[in-house]
Amino acid sequence: AHLDQIERAEPLVNSFITVTADDALATARQIDERRARGEELHPLAGVPVAVKDLIVTKGTRTTAGSKMLQEWVPPYDATVTAKVREAGLPILGKTNMDEFAMGSTTEHSAFGRTYNPWHTGRVPGGSSGGSAAAVAAWEAPLAIGTDTGGSIRQPAALTGTVGVKPTYGSVSRYGVIAMASSLDQVGPMTRTVADAAALHELLAGHDAQDSTSLPQAVPGFRAAAANRDVKGLKVGVLAQSYGAGVSAGVRGSFQAALDLLAEAGAEIVELQLPALDYALDAYYLIMPSEVSSNLARFDGMRYGLRAEPQDGPVTAERVMAETRRQGFGWEAKRRIILGTYALSAGYYDAYYGSAQKVRTLVKRDFARAFEQVDVLASPTAPTTAFGFGQDAEDPMTMYLNDVFTIPANLAGLPGLSLPSGIAGDGLPVGFQLLAPELADERLYSAGGALE
Ligand code: GLN
Repeated sequence: AHLDQIERAEPLVNSFITVTADDALATARQIDERRARGEELHPLAGVPVAVKDLIVTKGTRTTAGSKMLQEWVPPYDATVTAKVREAGLPILGKTNMDEFAMGSTTEHSAFGRTYNPWHTGRVPGGSSGGSAAAVAAWEAPLAIGTDTGGSIRQPAALTGTVGVKPTYGSVSRYGVIAMASSLDQVGPMTRTVADAAALHELLAGHDAQDSTSLPQAVPGFRAAAANRDVKGLKVGVLAQSYGAGVSAGVRGSFQAALDLLAEAGAEIVELQLPALDYALDAYYLIMPSEVSSNLARFDGMRYGLRAEPQDGPVTAERVMAETRRQGFGWEAKRRIILGTYALSAGYYDAYYGSAQKVRTLVKRDFARAFEQVDVLASPTAPTTAFGFGQDAEDPMTMYLNDVFTIPANLAGLPGLSLPSGIAGDGLPVGFQLLAPELADERLYSAGGALE
């Protein structure tokens, strides 16, 4: 049924870069047979999943949305891919994304843009816009995304779906093409909080292949989502939620969700976290710095695209330059240049060093807030889904779309976005909850209560 829906919806939505119909059907049949034999199966066995094309899949090309990896077929599985296969979830295909996960719109893909299923004149958000659109268009019941500065939560908000960024280090990054390694996290994108909890439980856990993987065991997210008890839960509202950039439609829906939590017995308090005002600036220095270093590997020598200069001598340096000129889109180039500049001798302390200090202040603000409250709430994004082409005109405004999501990445905290209703423009609004490090289950008990 999902493959049929993919066939119907893809011409309008373009959620997928690659559809792996045969593989998905083969897995589904295997699971049916095993079930018929009475084998004990994972609770998600047989439930299909769509995987962001930043996550490597053995034998299926993995492009990161880039011309650079257009033909690249990985010889191994990411840890999360292996877990999904092991549990018997048929993989429907690889979803579209902003190139190397850089963007908030899924326009920056070498494979064309993805359209928002709610309104095809609007962006689905990004960078995991393909995964979000696949879930929203009923092409996939479950999807996997990655979130470096909001790339799971913001597209979930813009498509009326649920997205969770787990605690940094709690889901393996092994086999996930790196954008900014100190910020990247893999997480679930689904239609319900309960589904997100189930997929999250499958994805999480220690992995010796990832040097930043945390040793802690995975708590019961499904139990937390089913419990739905918020009586006495202290919810801190970020004062920034009432800021100037937040649209009236988003503000109204946000307030309605807070009222529901209060009715269910939660205690709502407003909190000031002043360092968060500088989080965006710090992110847009730290992220490109790490990007410039991580993307150095795409040099035409190791894997992926290799392009030789049209004229003149074919030296190693000129092959590298030509490969990178042809292989990267302009947003990737912009960030590589910014990052290289920020890390260069003489500017390092002024830019990268200062940004790291702001990162510490953001962590301290959160630590102080979580001495007073159990979870924090804000809108996920300041507006509903917007039109195409806006960031080409003004990248700074586009970067502002991430103000509510980025702080959690800087501090390594878990965050969840769920739909809180429809704004006056007929488009869905996202409600964000944040919890302390390794307290991801609180997102599910509070989120479950709102479902
Ligand atoms: N929109 C943000 C950016 O462009 C976040 C990207 C992400 O989380 N991968 O950097």
